[in-house]
Parts: sequence; C-alpha cells; structure tokens
Amino acid sequence: MNGPVEAIKSEKRMLLINYLNENKSRYETLFTFNQDGIFTMDIEGHLVQGNPAFEKISGYAEEEATQLKLQFLFPIDQVNKVFHHFHQAVLGQFQNFDCKMANKIGGLVDLNITNIPICVNDQIVGVCAVARDITELKRKKEEVRKIEEMQRVLTDNLLDLIISTNLQGEIIYVSPSCEYILGYSSDEVIKQNFLSFVHPDDAERTFIIRKEALSHHEDRRDCYRIRKKNGTFIWMESLCKPIIASDTLHVLEVVSVFRDISERTRVEEEAKKREETYRDIVEYSPDAVIIARENEILFINETGTRVFGAATKQDLLTKELSELIHLDYHEIAKKRIRLVTNGEATEFYEYKLIRLDGTTFFAEVKGIPTIFQNKPARHIIIRDITERKKTQELLLNSEKLSVAGQLAAGIAHEVRNPLTAIKGFLQLMEAQAESDKPYFEIIQSEMDRIELILSELLVLAKPQELKIETVDLVSLIDSVKTLLDTQANMNGVHIERLYNAKNFTIKCDKNQLKQVFINILKNAIEAMPKGGIVTIELKKHSFNKVKLLIKDTGNGMPVHILRRLGEPFFTTKEEGTGLGIMISKQIVENHDGTIHFWSDQKGTMIEVILPTAQYVEV
Ligand code: ADP
Ligand code: MG
Repeated sequence: MNGPVEAIKSEKRMLLINYLNENKSRYETLFTFNQDGIFTMDIEGHLVQGNPAFEKISGYAEEEATQLKLQFLFPIDQVNKVFHHFHQAVLGQFQNFDCKMANKIGGLVDLNITNIPICVNDQIVGVCAVARDITELKRKKEEVRKIEEMQRVLTDNLLDLIISTNLQGEIIYVSPSCEYILGYSSDEVIKQNFLSFVHPDDAERTFIIRKEALSHHEDRRDCYRIRKKNGTFIWMESLCKPIIASDTLHVLEVVSVFRDISERTRVEEEAKKREETYRDIVEYSPDAVIIARENEILFINETGTRVFGAATKQDLLTKELSELIHLDYHEIAKKRIRLVTNGEATEFYEYKLIRLDGTTFFAEVKGIPTIFQNKPARHIIIRDITERKKTQELLLNSEKLSVAGQLAAGIAHEVRNPLTAIKGFLQLMEAQAESDKPYFEIIQSEMDRIELILSELLVLAKPQELKIETVDLVSLIDSVKTLLDTQANMNGVHIERLYNAKNFTIKCDKNQLKQVFINILKNAIEAMPKGGIVTIELKKHSFNKVKLLIKDTGNGMPVHILRRLGEPFFTTKEEGTGLGIMISKQIVENHDGTIHFWSDQKGTMIEVILPTAQYVEV
C-alpha cells in the first residue's frame, strides 16, 4: 500500500485538493450555481468534490459522493466507455461523450459529460467532469424522430393521395400512393398541370376553388372526378391547403389531399335511387299515406292529397290530424294511436274522415310504428272505401230490382186475366144501364190505369228479352219528342233539341229505349206544373260512346229523394207508379249504358251514356 507508486498517487491527490481549495473562492459561484453537475475526481477515479447540481442528478450528498469511486456511479454496460474517456482525460485530452448514470435510487439519467483534465505544476492531478442532464433533450429528439418516422410511413403507405403544386398549378410532388390509386408513376405526373387530370366538367369549378384557397389563404374542400391512367374517372374528395411562408406571408405551394370516394358515391347514389323508388311507391300507392307524430302531419302522399280534396300537400301539412277525423271517431282514434305509439301495428278499421271542404267519407285506416327523420312516428295507411260502398249499395239495389221483377211478373199475369174478364162484363153492363154512365167512365179509367201499371210491370219482368237492331238515335229521340210534344204544350212546357248531329247509330231494342226517353221526358213535364223548358242535348262522349243530357227547369229533388231514385214503387206523386226510373235504369244498363241524376231547386239533369254501333270521332 505504501509503495513508491502509491506515494506518487497520494501526492497528486494532495496537490489536487490543495489546488481546489486555493481556487475555491475564485470559482465558488460558478461551481455552486451551475445548472450542470460538476464533479472532480483524482487520477484514480475517486470523487473528491461535487456541486449541488451533481447532488441533484446523482442523488448523493457531497459527503456520500466523496466516498465513491467512479465506477459506482455508472451501470455496468457504461463503465467501459466511462473509463475509456476518463483515462483519455488523465492523459490530458478533453473528452465529451453521452452516457447513462445510475443515480442513488437506481434510476438512469442521460448525461452528456465533458471531461476536463486538471493540471497542476505541469502534471495532471485529476479530472473535472461537467455533466449535463440530457434526459429531456433525448426524449424530445426521440419524439421528433418518431414523428418523422410516422410521417414517412404515412406518406409512403397512405390510401390518400397527396399532391403538391406550385402557384402555376404544376405538380411538384406526388405521394407514392399515386401509383396504385391513379396508375401513374410519379415521373408521369411531375411537372404536369394538375388541372389536366381533372374531368372537363369539373375543371372550371376546381380552378375557382383553388383560386379562392390561394387568395384567402384558407383550406378548401371539394369533390371532383380525376382521370386515371386507364382513361376512366374516379370521384375524389380533396382538401386543398395553401402553404404560407411565415415571414413574407406569400403562398409557397398548394398541398392537396385526395381521397377516393367513388365507392362512397356509388353507395350514396344507390341509396338515393332506392329512396326515390320507395318514395314513388309511397307517393303513387293507391292508398293514402300519412306520416304523423302526435297530432302533427309530417308527410302526406299524392293519393292522400287527392283523397282529402286538397289542392297542394302544404294545405294538409298545416292541419292537425284530428281535424281530418270525424268527432264520433276521436275516442277510438286516440286509443289506436296509443297502441301504435307503444310500438304495435293496428288492423284496418273503418273511420269517418273529413275532407278539407268539410264533406265526410268512409275509409279504412291502419297505423304502423315507424321512424321518420330519426324519431319515432306513425305510418298511417288510409284506404278510401267510398267506391266500394257505392258498389255495395248498387248490388243491394239490383237485388231489390230482381225481386221486384219476379214479383211484377207474377202480379202482371195473375191480374191481367181477371181484368180482361171484368172489362168484358163491364162493357155489357154499360150497354144495359145508360143512367149509370158516369160511374162506368170512372171504372173504365181506373181499369186503364191498372192496365198501364201492368204493362210497365211486364217490361220490368222481361228485361232480358231484348230485340236488338241498329237504330239511329237522333230519329229515335225525335220520334219520342213528337209523341210527347202535345202533352208538353198542354202543360206549358217547351221541349228544345240542342243538337245538330244527323245520326248516331246504336244497337238497341228500339221500343225499350223509347220507353226510357218517354219516362224521362214525362217526369220532366210532370216536374214543371207551371210550365218550363226541357232541353235535350246529344253529343259524343268518347270514341265509342254517346251522351244524352236531358235538363228541365222544374222543382228538382232534395237529396233524400235523389238517393232513393230507382227504388221500385218509390214515388212522390199521387198518381205515380214509382216504376218509371227503375225500369229506365234497368233498360239502359241492359244496353251496357249508364244513367245518372243531378238535381237542385232550379231543376234536374239526367245523363244517359250509351255505346255506339260505330266508332265516332271525338
Ligand atoms: P213516378 O213518375 O211514377 O213517380 P218515377 O220512377 O218516374 O215514378 O219517378 C220517381 C220519383 O222521382 C218521382 O215521383 C219524382 O219525385 C222524382 N222525379 C223523377 N224525375 C224527376 C224530375 N225530372 N224532376 C223532379 N223529380 C223527379
Ligand atoms: Mg215517372
């Protein structure tokens, strides 16, 4: 231990300590307040001094530190490096290197160490190490490196396409993804004008948007079609971003990020088409459709607009749903709405509904829970059953007719025979009892009336026995007019013909059809006890139909009578049989025609439509 080498070493150590003590006052501030850790070692690597920053880095107080040797401060894998640099310093070289130090509690601190040899009397007596904590610096560097790496990975592998252009629109950079998105290698696009790749229909818009981005120094988004190398176009969404110099505020270049949205566009277009089809199905469905939430009408289809008698959809959208439902049905409607609101579909149920003009109609209504504009709503299907009800009524009527027909046949035959006998005997008796002549006249006229009823009944009884021939309708009507003119004149009625057609040939049983017009004209005359005018119009209805309109200026009929027209034996006249209209209806229908009645206080109009034998030009 006390050999000559040891002696030299301890002498150097003394020199070092003295040197440090002598210079202490001179460097005190620099030493104590230095941000960097400073520790001094003798040439054997024993610590002799450490400043407060070193204490902070290492975790050792100065007294503890001076017990330490250099190797204890560093983890094993660093010791070699540290000693290498230490020895170089002992040999007089300044050294700077990065390493890790193990602090007192075992944590690692990144340091940059500068070793400064301390020279006293021309010999190196120790090494001063200035240790800068570079943990934070290293972390930041690592972060920057990571970001750079990430950027590289992104641009190289991006599904998006990045294109940089100069102010003139020339492409100066393109990301590698260009190759698999558009098919061009970067050489094929560099220096090309960017607009030459844009679909001609989109070019002008693209140009304007780019100009805006440049002049406003703002990002701009847009979608347009880009030409691929194979000549096809794909829809791309682009974000166009001007890069601005921080000092001059001039735009340096424009970076655009493109994303292939052809698939998205296709899916969107398909969805749109599907929606349109769905909308058409709903709009033109034979049922009215309403989408409602609470009492609010959110949507109504074309059919609905028509069924409720509205001119436009808007007229209905401003209404409340309850305004369309007859008061008698409000309770049941509320109950059913509750069911649908709770997620249950209801069955069709017959409602009385109200049109916008206040008239009512019957409809079957079904409610289905649905989602409309992302919120729960009710899908209401409304089936107008007015027509069906009418047909039902018609059916009922024709049933009544056939019963009446059967009855009539029976009655007519049964009554006719005894009547003939009575008539014969009456004539005999009349010849014998001259004085009772007035009574016989009464009996005679009553008998005539019975005969009239019977003959009308018989027409009814044999509707199927038609004798069809081709007849000119104009002359048929003219002949009926002539027949009734006298009776009309006697009642102060004038029959006017408002047609100048020469002929309308129809196929019909002449006598039956005559009966129809006689019935109609007789009713008209009878409706005008104080006189008036009957007009007869005759015109083409369609290419194979003819229309007759017979109008009178009589008293007309209230609705309750109008509704009962055609019922057998329905009459309002003292002398009436109540069979005329019923028979007329039946005859017209047997001829494949239709008959309709309109009436108000000013008169009645009867429309008869019949098929023609030939086509008529409309
Ligand atoms: P009748 O003439 O024997 O009463 P109809 O069947 O011909 O029987 O007519 C039935 C009823 O229809 C008539 O009683 C009358 O009330 C009404 N009517 C028919 N035509 C007219 C008309 N042109 N104007 C007013 N009421 C009419
Ligand atoms: Mg009549």
